[in-house]
Amino acid sequence: MARAPRPARFSASEPRASHSGGAGAAGAGPRSVAARAWVHSLIVAIRTVVFDVGETLIDETRIFARWADRFGIPHMAFFGTIGGVIATGGTLTEGFRLLVPGFDLAAESARWRAEDPEGEREHFGEGDLYPDVRPAFDTMRKAGLSLVIAGNQPVEAGPSLAAMDLPVAGIGISDVWGVAKPRPEFFERTLELARQSTPGLAPEEILYVGDRVDNDVLPARAAGMNAALLRRGIYGYRHAAGAEADRADVIADDLHRVADWAASRSAG
Ligand SMILES: [Mg+2]
Repeated sequence: MARAPRPARFSASEPRASHSGGAGAAGAGPRSVAARAWVHSLIVAIRTVVFDVGETLIDETRIFARWADRFGIPHMAFFGTIGGVIATGGTLTEGFRLLVPGFDLAAESARWRAEDPEGEREHFGEGDLYPDVRPAFDTMRKAGLSLVIAGNQPVEAGPSLAAMDLPVAGIGISDVWGVAKPRPEFFERTLELARQSTPGLAPEEILYVGDRVDNDVLPARAAGMNAALLRRGIYGYRHAAGAEADRADVIADDLHRVADWAASRSAG
């Protein structure tokens, strides 16, 4: 299978790519048309697009703001400190512990649930869906692509996503599966889930879309899938600027551009 040596990059400040788009679109002579057809014949068509959840479909701003409010920390200090910790190689949990010494996610979540059982707390709802999700999903469904969600999420995320009634063929949740990204087993479960609606689907016919190089792009590519890196969220901007971002097949500022790229490579 042929792969472009560098990912296509689509910025929000540029016009959206046409469906013929990407490499080979420049130059319109007969030779370039023939070359394009030859290149296209080497590229396996994409049949299924699989989406990460946090900062791919869900804007987590309000969730982190509620955490900040819970601890009485101003939003700027909370977001900035966590960003600083993860930018220097730390984890989200280490960021929380710098702000809240001794922070224990399971214990704090249980305490919060007991205090505010009806509140949204650290969970998301329809209001947290990025506004490009539904129109981009429509574009991809019209192109004949099957859509699946598979992300690192708590059990509660499953019913929350199901309630949104998105046009997806399946929803995979790490805490339900008992295995999380970047483990290879997560991507094996993702392939199994995608095959339930598309029997015989091969990994190279999947585009996995996420906002992180370490958890999304690299393990998806290792599993034989194509990978899109979304340049948004507390990881996405930094990861898109790093050297390993070039492991992605496409880097995009929003889901419209991912949808255009996937539609241009679909069989439909
Ligand atoms: Mg994510």
